[in-house]
This record gives sequence, structure tokens and C-alpha cells, in this order.
Amino acid sequence: MDLVFFGIQGSGKGTQAKTLAEELGYYIFEAGGELRKIKASGTELGDLIKNYIDNGELVPFEIIMKVVNEAVASIPADQKILFDGIPRDEDQMKAFDQILTDSGREFRCVHILLDKDDALERIKGRAEKEGRADDADQEKVLRRMDLFVEKTMPVIEIYESAGKVIEIDGKGSVEEIYTRIKEAVIA
Ligand code: AMP
Repeated sequence: MDLVFFGIQGSGKGTQAKTLAEELGYYIFEAGGELRKIKASGTELGDLIKNYIDNGELVPFEIIMKVVNEAVASIPADQKILFDGIPRDEDQMKAFDQILTDSGREFRCVHILLDKDDALERIKGRAEKEGRADDADQEKVLRRMDLFVEKTMPVIEIYESAGKVIEIDGKGSVEEIYTRIKEAVIA
């Protein structure tokens, strides 16, 4: 069973996803990370997506879905995948569900809950540590958070209605949150 991680920017989703994937043997597909690699590649596609990423806007549907499609196609059926950062809106959700169904995969979701103020505090720390341009600019961070609330929350609600979502309290230390996630996932 695959996993799909959700959480507002700053919820600690990426860190938790990486740790869990390593410990439990998931292949991690990090949408933002894959797109940042393409951005840095010096190709035409990289130049095309640069502005979207730097401005905190969603990269066009066809581009991100092609990346997801190729990744899923290249991963053996018996290798569990942890998806981080996809799907981000309802169009992506429909395409994502189709890709997974077509490859005979099933998934559950983990949603790390954190309010906006706490999330903003965490992001400030991360911008200093990792030097990410899209994290350093408060306006862009707020834009990404708004997109999460407007576009991604409806996706989570649909998955919730389908009984696919495990909700995790995102307050506390990294270790505390990790323990909550791990216990819920292996239960
Ligand atoms: P993240 O690392 O998840 O915060 O993503 C960083 C940036 O990559 C986002 O602000 C978007 O510009 C882009 N991005 C990541 N995931 C997606 C996605 N599923 N669809 C479109 N753009 C994405």
C-alpha cells in the first residue's frame, strides 16, 4: 500500500516523509524536489518552470503529471511509494488516481495538521537553513499556503470521505510527530 503525504507548507511534511520512507522502505517521490531538479537542469523545460516555482505558483498540469507518470512507470510494482506534494488540486487528483489505478496501486493518505501561524514560524527557520528562494519570501510562502487551503484541502476532503486519510497532530517536536505518524501507519 502506497502513502500520500499532505500538510501545509511548514507542517514538517517533507522531513517526516523522508524519515518514514527511509525507515519503512518506501521509494519517495517528492514533487517539489523533482521539479527543482528540472529547474536546475539548464534545459528549456527548466527555464519554463522556474518562474512558477520561484513565485510559489503550481507548475502546469501536463508537466507535473508527466513527471509523476514516468516515475510510477519506472518503479517496480512491489516497491511501495511515498508521494509527497502530489496531488495538489482536483485535476491532479483525478489524473493521479488514474495513474495509480492503471498500475494496480493502492494508497492511504497521511495529513499532518498544523495551523498557519505555527507553520509560518517553522518556514522561517527552514528558509535560513536550506537557502530556498521560495521560502525566504514571506509573500510567496503565504501564496503557497493559500493555494494549499484553496486547492489542496478540497482534495484531502474527498479522500477523507473515502476513508483514506489518517490525521496526525502536527504540533510538538519532530520526534513526537514522527512517532505519531509511524504508529498510525504501521497499525
Ligand atoms: P514544495 O517543495 O512541495 O513546497 O513545492 C515547491 C514548488 O514546486 C511549489 O510551490 C510549486 O511551484 C511546485 N510544485 C510542487 N508540487 C507541485 C504539484 N503537484 N503541482 C504543481 N506544482 C508543484
